[in-house]
Amino acid sequence: MHTTTTIEPHDEALPATPETLASFSDLGLSSLVLAAVRDAGYTEPTPIQQEAIPLALSGRDMIGLANTGTGKTAAFTLPIIDRLLDGPRRTRVLILTPTRELAAQVDDSFRKYGKHSELGVAAVFGGVPIEPQERALRQGVDVIVATPGRLIDHIERQNVVFDDLEVLVLDEADRMLDMGFAPQLNRIVNEIPRYRQTLLFSATMPPEVEALARKYLRKPVVVQVGRRSSAASTVAHAVYPVPREKKTALLVELLRKPDMDSVLIFSRTKHGADRVVRHLERAEITATAMHADKSQAQRTQALDGFKRGAIRVLVATDIAQRGLDISGITHVINYDVPQQPEDYVHRIGRTGRAAATGDAYTFMAPDEIAMVRTIERVIGQQIPRISVPGFDFGTVAAD
Ligand code: ADP
Ligand code: MG
Repeated sequence: MHTTTTIEPHDEALPATPETLASFSDLGLSSLVLAAVRDAGYTEPTPIQQEAIPLALSGRDMIGLANTGTGKTAAFTLPIIDRLLDGPRRTRVLILTPTRELAAQVDDSFRKYGKHSELGVAAVFGGVPIEPQERALRQGVDVIVATPGRLIDHIERQNVVFDDLEVLVLDEADRMLDMGFAPQLNRIVNEIPRYRQTLLFSATMPPEVEALARKYLRKPVVVQVGRRSSAASTVAHAVYPVPREKKTALLVELLRKPDMDSVLIFSRTKHGADRVVRHLERAEITATAMHADKSQAQRTQALDGFKRGAIRVLVATDIAQRGLDISGITHVINYDVPQQPEDYVHRIGRTGRAAATGDAYTFMAPDEIAMVRTIERVIGQQIPRISVPGFDFGTVAAD
């Protein structure tokens, strides 16, 4: 077990390699938390959990870097629940996440892993009425899981008291910065005690995240699992060269394959997502769009339906991109080539989660070739090309 400032990266994040084989009971967690872990059906901790849990329990600041789908939520939720087991109800923990969906998911994790303890947890995010959140906060909770904007609303309404705060978690820090939350984070951190434990989790560590860590963390231990920017290793990926006007036809063709049980399609724009859904429905493939123009209720419903398996094809813009845990996705399709190489890594991180395998396909129009090359440079590997007769570039001229 490493406890030095830098950790040898493991190539394979999941499943645990023999040298990292360990048991949850070796990590220092109390029996109530271990019981909840057993109930969740986890037999062994993931590598990031093995490294992060003892460190978080020790009270040190920590930066946890690991790809999407490697179990980072439990890596901070479990030690926090452990810390909260004793003691009266006051707000001792604040978790900041970039999106509502992610806040809801972390909230769920606290309920799942905390089921043997009596924790008060409030999830606080925009897009829904503020009053019920206000009531929950005013009643007093141990843990607040929040998106930055809505939390600031509550701070301004004086619904929260941070005097007793002990732990701050910045989850998906890279994503929060991408979404422009730096000023809000600053505002929030100014409201909370300086003496605290701060845990930062991120899939990537660009210079902006490093700067954030320098600002808000004290002598953090860095735990890094898996190579930086490496795509989830259980995922098989491929690029389909296809003229833009044939992308929907190719999509319909691929979706006819029987193993496409649960497919997440990414579109660059909201209109693009709606258009893809319409095309699919014309081909009698039921699909649902999820993007920022949909109401929170519609988004939640779409996500639930997708998780339950009631919706087979979900077409989303970037809001579904990072951190969301949608277990059991069999395929991710990038209908448009992601604009940022890091987005590619995050998106295909939707599949290949915790030991499952998945395929990630990217549709590449001629004007997207350069973008794919950039992605390949960043991930340090060539993505295999698959040409489908009748759909690849070669047939454009013949048409
Ligand atoms: P991350 O935040 O790193 O993207 P999550 O915390 O969302 O990943 O976890 C990804 C998935 O792995 C979830 O479905 C979670 O229930 C599952 N998981 C987490 N820890 C374990 C474990 N020790 N064993 C098996 N599955 C796990
Ligand atoms: Mg996460």
